[in-house]
Amino acid sequence: MRGWARFFFFEACAWELLAFRARVRFKRNPLFNSFMELCIIGSGYVGLVSGACFAEVGHHVVCVDNDQRKVDMLQRGEIPIYEPGLEELVQRNVAAKRLRFTNSIAEGVDHGQIVFIAVPTPPQADGSVDLTYIERVAREIAGVLKPGQYRVVVDKSTVPVKTGEKVEATIRRYNHSAELDVVSNPEFLREGCAVPDLMHPDRIVIGSSSQRATDLMKRVYEPFQAPILVTDVNSAELIKHAANSFLSLKISYINAVSAICEASGADVEMVADGIGMDKRIGRNFLNAGLGYGGSCFPKDVKAFIAIAEELGVPFHLLKEVERINISQMERFLKKVREALWVLRDKRVAVWGLSFKPDTDDVRNSVAIELINKLAAEGALVTAYDPKGMGKALEYKLLAPTVRLASSPVEAVAGAEALLLATEWKEFACQDFAAVKAAMHTPLLFDGRNLLNPGTMRGMGFVYYGVGRP
Ligand code: NAD
Repeated sequence: MRGWARFFFFEACAWELLAFRARVRFKRNPLFNSFMELCIIGSGYVGLVSGACFAEVGHHVVCVDNDQRKVDMLQRGEIPIYEPGLEELVQRNVAAKRLRFTNSIAEGVDHGQIVFIAVPTPPQADGSVDLTYIERVAREIAGVLKPGQYRVVVDKSTVPVKTGEKVEATIRRYNHSAELDVVSNPEFLREGCAVPDLMHPDRIVIGSSSQRATDLMKRVYEPFQAPILVTDVNSAELIKHAANSFLSLKISYINAVSAICEASGADVEMVADGIGMDKRIGRNFLNAGLGYGGSCFPKDVKAFIAIAEELGVPFHLLKEVERINISQMERFLKKVREALWVLRDKRVAVWGLSFKPDTDDVRNSVAIELINKLAAEGALVTAYDPKGMGKALEYKLLAPTVRLASSPVEAVAGAEALLLATEWKEFACQDFAAVKAAMHTPLLFDGRNLLNPGTMRGMGFVYYGVGRP
């Protein structure tokens, strides 16, 4: 097997092994013989993958969504999102009758002693969190909870500290006889590797003030055999925003260092290796590039700034994290302008649309922002992405002049520059002789430091990375 094929093969095997280990634990340990009945409200990236993984370890799960189109697709066995390993997991557990889908919150809440909320928490114009989806679900749960039916309502969505209190107060306000506890159980999965992240988590955080609810939550997670941290509800809610903001801070830190590397002739990749080999720091999230994007980091950093502001504790450090993130794109575009001079009517190819590799998620993608900025300056952009093109078209995220190609090589035909915006492995193993031959001018801007500068220059490309000579 050749290099990349071997890598993909072993990666797939590793995921299968993790899932298998979790199933075996569930079956072997007598404590796990009693599966639990779970409901998940919201069947998106978090809800659907969580539901499938809970079912995989033996729980019986009903996933609820109010998007009828999504429910219809799932009931037909189609998966509305791309997430490696998810399709097999869903199909296996639907066939085993441990997983089903509905648009009826009454059906879901009736089934699940534990009701997870995994609906969106988008940002508002001022950066604070829009909690209308959460509030609506709280009212809907109140409307269908039957007398004497104890439920643990679990917030898995990323919410500001003190939201649990509001969810509980709302359910009790609309249902005076409700018997429930509200728990915070933030989700730390990464899109693109959500299945292994959920099957084999670093830690499970359970924020609870009720022993009964905590014990039930521990039973849910027992098959995963991961470290469990039990906290109060407020701390659990804060952990999620603090964690995502810290990871964003790491990215902005190395991006700020990349600017110093460019000014001094140092190589940010070597600097990151040197920093990251220190176990106290770690190499993860020290990859210089175009900055962080996606549906979580930008909104969670903004939210944490707004939460701190509201509590009267301004978080200046995080404002700088945001500023560095924005300036990273500008520094990259400046290099493109310096090389091409005027962008108007220049043919530019962009590889990447999704906000990171191995996902079709294009929400808040830096690649799309880059493409639209190029198009706004009159560049004729042709883009390619292995999985993100469908959603980019569906959500109409691209400027009207942007064309999509059916392959990386087709995208570069006649291009005066190639910009690499998302670090898909597929891009690293292209036939670069064919890529160069198809281009008008071999200018290569590697916004994710995916490629080897020496190799690319040796092939005749004029290579620009981020923070490396
Ligand atoms: P998503 O948009 O992919 O999915 C949310 C789903 O909820 C959608 O399918 C939507 O139709 C459904 N929904 C909305 N209102 C509903 C209602 N009243 N009843 C039933 N279904 C409803 O969102 P996501 O990416 O899964 O994120 C969900 C939450 O998890 C957010 O708070 C997010 O910040 C958090 N989170 C996301 C990730 C991630 O990587 N995507 C990781 C950790 C945490």
